[in-house]
Amino acid sequence: MESIAANIEDIREQIAAACIEAGRDRQEVRLIAVSKNHPASLVREAFDAGQIEFGESYVQEFLEKYDDRLLEDQGIEWHFIGHLQSNKIRSIIGKVSLIHGIDKLSTAEELSKRALQHNLQVNYLLEVNTSGEASKYGMAPEEILSSAVALFTLPNITLRGLMTIASPEIAKAREEFRQLRMLLEALKAVAPDPSKLAELSMGMSGDFREAIHEGATMIRVGTAIFGWR
Ligand SMILES: *Cc1c(COP(=O)(O)O)cnc(C)c1O
Repeated sequence: MESIAANIEDIREQIAAACIEAGRDRQEVRLIAVSKNHPASLVREAFDAGQIEFGESYVQEFLEKYDDRLLEDQGIEWHFIGHLQSNKIRSIIGKVSLIHGIDKLSTAEELSKRALQHNLQVNYLLEVNTSGEASKYGMAPEEILSSAVALFTLPNITLRGLMTIASPEIAKAREEFRQLRMLLEALKAVAPDPSKLAELSMGMSGDFREAIHEGATMIRVGTAIFGWR
């Protein structure tokens, strides 16, 4: 295994290459380093190599790292990318810059309620089940469109875009990324302020190049940076 700094460098080069191939501006794609299951010391190593944005999937693990003296007050930008239950919202609110995995209208309503209580403005993405597999979290595309009006009117929270975890098979994954982009376009068409809906969080270690080709603005990469765990 290469060092974390070398892995990050390598991924940055691959992002740049994919952007050139896809005819996209490199500034449009942000790398989120997924540090779940890896200790604060390795997060620090990545941070020291210039990585600012990190994604965590589990509330308890995130809170421990958030308060770790190696990481606190360093200017790390945290993303919550896991499945978020309503009763856990209050423990992470105000600590993360973006919540990627909202997958129910009722969870968005709870998020809005908590944001209002804390007098915060919270940015979130809706998780979409693009593969249609019953085992996966995420809203069906039709459900998102039918909930759109209700979602847009919730106070103190702002929908920034969509997130998906694609199928392992690469050709299918690419089709699902395309579907997510089209769904975002459909959502923009009914949004009061479409300019706020700009993010497509899609692509992981095995499929981020394809995701960039299909319009990803945030890729979530864990294993290719931190190795297996
Ligand atoms: C773990 C995880 C990732 C990172 O996956 P890798 O294959 O390790 O790059 C991305 N997104 C989510 C939601 C994850 O849970």
